[in-house]
Amino acid sequence: MLNSGNCSDCTACGSCHETPNIDTPNLFCLNCQPSDAPCLLACSNNAIEVLGGAITINSEKCIKCRDCVFVCPLNIIKI
Ligand code: SF4
Ligand code: SF4
Repeated sequence: MLNSGNCSDCTACGSCHETPNIDTPNLFCLNCQPSDAPCLLACSNNAIEVLGGAITINSEKCIKCRDCVFVCPLNIIKI
């Protein structure tokens, strides 16, 4: 079982499936392959990036258009 107190957000275990959220940019989604992740492809502002093989949202680039929210098949992006 994951001990979140010891987690360094390295993503190496591959168990992360947290909600990408611009207010908590250290959270990742590993559901889609970065090469064909709908959220990443939909972002015209290049605000969705791959970090350690996982999807994350760069809050400095995000303009809150929510295009990524509408294309996520799991509806897990909260902006
Ligand atoms: S809200 Fe818009 S700018 Fe921000 S990550 Fe999603 S698609 Fe990109
Ligand atoms: S489209 Fe949704 S499920 Fe796929 S990587 Fe993006 S946030 Fe994760």
